[in-house]
Amino acid sequence: MGTTQEVAPGVLWVRMPLPFALDHINLWLVADGPHWTLVDCGLATNTTRALWDAIFARDLAGRSVGRVIVTHYHPDHIGLAGWLSAKLDLVPWMTKGEFLTAHAACHNVGGTGYARVRDFFARHGLDPARLEAAGVKDGNYRRGVEPLPETFRRIRHGDHIAIGDDSWRVIVGYGHAPEHAALYDECAGVLISGDMLLPRISTNVSVWPVEPDGDPLGDFLESIDRFSDLDADTLVLPSHGRPFRGVPARISELKAHHAERLEKLARVCDRERTAAELLPTLFRREFTDYQLMFAMGEMIAHLNHLWHGGVLRRVAGPDGTWRFVRAA
Ligand SMILES: [Zn+2]
Repeated sequence: MGTTQEVAPGVLWVRMPLPFALDHINLWLVADGPHWTLVDCGLATNTTRALWDAIFARDLAGRSVGRVIVTHYHPDHIGLAGWLSAKLDLVPWMTKGEFLTAHAACHNVGGTGYARVRDFFARHGLDPARLEAAGVKDGNYRRGVEPLPETFRRIRHGDHIAIGDDSWRVIVGYGHAPEHAALYDECAGVLISGDMLLPRISTNVSVWPVEPDGDPLGDFLESIDRFSDLDADTLVLPSHGRPFRGVPARISELKAHHAERLEKLARVCDRERTAAELLPTLFRREFTDYQLMFAMGEMIAHLNHLWHGGVLRRVAGPDGTWRFVRAA
């Protein structure tokens, strides 16, 4: 944690701690002429700030960080973007969807507040007390990101960003975050995948109350196809876990993983079931912390996908809760 290691020519791997079950995030420093370009920032905690200060003093070979690129708005990625921008006097680069969503989530507006989450999951059959007990509340997001940057430089899908002598293509993906940016250097064969391709765990894909009828799983499965023409020996630098190769095989694994879950859910929905009731079908353990929120979001993502695909119907029970049942 808090050290750098060269993982490809001119690319340093920085691992920073997270106080969650997922206990680390990987960040990347890419040699950029007389500077470094930093991809993702780490959570806004005093621990991470102190580790950054040590890295700046020790590991940058006399070159300063001249640019910060943020893959998406989740606090472990964007968290210190405001602090770094102020410290380094720069404007961070990110997509517009991520910039605006970060600000909405920070202020609990635009459908991101706890009351909405509670009501939405209650509609899907979850006892609100369970969410309360799991510690899901307003302010959790804000604590990990303050202060957010007030300005940004917009990047878009298909943009080419010159970093040093190389050109990195922006590959936008959906389903995990509104407009997630991955970066691909075709010449060097390196992909900074963010959270869109992870080596062991599958990316969290959740329905949130802001878009209750959305199909983020469909969006995610379509998005990972944008990586399917990458060479098998492309070096993937993911935000969690270890760098890996074998993009096509990993995409196939992820598709098989979701197909299996969808099939399982379609099978058990031979009678009307709520998302909360179905949790044990996909998850072996009982969630008593904030991960309950991600489990519910992910469960609804699979159910909504089956609903949009015509496999399931969504009906309102006598108490108003949404239930899913096989269409045929
Ligand atoms: Zn994320």
